[in-house]
Amino acid sequence: MEELITNKAEKVLLVRYAEIHLKGLNRPFFEQKLIENIKLSLRGIPNRVDREQGRIYIVGIPEERFDEAVERLKRVFGIHSISPALAVGKDWDLVCDAAYELMEAQIAKKPDLSFKVFARRSDKHYFMNSDQINRELGHLVLERFPSVHVDIHKPEVSLSVEIREKAYVYAEEIPCANGMPVGTAGRAMLLISGGIDSPVAGYMMAKRGIVLSAVHFYSYPYTSERARDKVVELIRLLSTYAGNIRLHLVPFTDLQMAIYDNCPDKETTIIMRRLMMELAERIAKEDGAKALITGEALGQVASQTLESLCATDDAVSMPVFRPLIGFDKDEIMDYSRRIGTYETSILPYEDCCTVFVPKHPVTRPVVEDIRASEASYDFSELIEKALAETEVLVVKASDPKLI
Ligand code: ATP
Ligand code: MG
Repeated sequence: MEELITNKAEKVLLVRYAEIHLKGLNRPFFEQKLIENIKLSLRGIPNRVDREQGRIYIVGIPEERFDEAVERLKRVFGIHSISPALAVGKDWDLVCDAAYELMEAQIAKKPDLSFKVFARRSDKHYFMNSDQINRELGHLVLERFPSVHVDIHKPEVSLSVEIREKAYVYAEEIPCANGMPVGTAGRAMLLISGGIDSPVAGYMMAKRGIVLSAVHFYSYPYTSERARDKVVELIRLLSTYAGNIRLHLVPFTDLQMAIYDNCPDKETTIIMRRLMMELAERIAKEDGAKALITGEALGQVASQTLESLCATDDAVSMPVFRPLIGFDKDEIMDYSRRIGTYETSILPYEDCCTVFVPKHPVTRPVVEDIRASEASYDFSELIEKALAETEVLVVKASDPKLI
């Protein structure tokens, strides 16, 4: 019986860590989080996750759902790459059969491919050492598949053989999202607008292990129901990487009107930004978030000059993370296409920032002047009302698409 089980080639996914391998004593914490996140991402697909010698193996995925599992795992931060592998007993014949099967699949895609065998063994008692395996298996593959050739330096296919407690044979390495497992770096509050930049900023921070919460300010009737749906959809797209996200939807119209009626025209944008930050900070504290995240980039618009950013930060005491600060718009657009938020971000539904834009906004606000303008009107009642009317949605990757 034992023989039967070990002789059968089992398809497994071999998972390589990203930066976690640099961790020392607290490494188990990161590994544990990564395993949890892998399980969450595979929810609904049968699987078992095993950890052994600094590696994660996923077994038991039904053949017909293998590709879907790979697609989901590509979005799990903390994974450097995955390899679909055949796990077999260490009998040499079984190793060779697994290698032939994998080579056949590669040759079907490109008959005259170049390859190299790359063997490693942690089982030092194995009857061949790595060099011997490389030479012997290389030779056998060449004999069996005359259309292929060896290229030691730049092979198109690395046929890898790992001799561990079993033999693992694989011919593909699929690059994944890298970064740190979500949940290893605490929670932060993303200010999301529906534009191109803020979803990218959220992605970048989740990639460093942050759990995201999000806040969006809307201005009915100046912004539409569609603008709100767009933001929910952007958050849903982010949640395919970052896990469930609590989204706070804040009615902002009354505050915006009060700003326009009571503050100097050229300062309205910067004061609006300050109030957004102040409300976001209040919501963040309630939500257990320790920092704010925005999609601002230095110099992109008047409210993103160094002086404007200082005037905005002056409204809050939490750290404000701006992961896009040094990025050009083109670079941010490329990034958003890569992560899949671009097409939704460019849908033409107006954001509340674009509704009342002053003709000549200050580009070098003086903090003291802005504070004085803001203090000329008591916004506190409207702030409390907006917070009281804030709605919270828990957005999940599995939610239906809204737009
Ligand atoms: P984005 O592409 O993210 O909209 P932007 O370049 O258009 O950014 P602004 O509109 O000035 O810049 O907004 C700067 C940042 O302020 C955004 O990246 C976002 O973090 C935040 N923000 C703007 N509008 C809103 C909103 N309605 N709700 C929540 N956050 C917002
Ligand atoms: Mg915007």
